[in-house]
Amino acid sequence: MAGRVLNQKQVEEIKVLLVQNKEKIEKTLRTMDTEHETLNTMDLNDDADFAAASRDYSTDIHIKQQQLKELELINKSLKKIEKGEYTGLCDMCDSEITIKRLRVKPHARYCIDCRSYIDNEN
Ligand SMILES: [Zn+2]
Repeated sequence: MAGRVLNQKQVEEIKVLLVQNKEKIEKTLRTMDTEHETLNTMDLNDDADFAAASRDYSTDIHIKQQQLKELELINKSLKKIEKGEYTGLCDMCDSEITIKRLRVKPHARYCIDCRSYIDNEN
């Protein structure tokens, strides 16, 4: 297949990593939900308690959003692998995302150059 850089073995390796990360994120999200339920039922006696609790809560929301976004990218990559459409190529410039980078961040959609370009844009 034209343009495919990763061999079957490497794709399998990425898939394993994706599944592991997916499980880790789902576990984190579940833990967070449980903690929030506890927070809601907790007796917060004064305003200071409440302020402290809601500060934690908004940090959690931020983390949760990031985790959900990552989960979405992971699911997209997994779907591509299932369909045999996974190439390990950059979404932006079609150049190879190195296996080294994918091992660190298996759901990566962009090569390092495009990633830093996008980060600078933001
Ligand atoms: Zn690129």
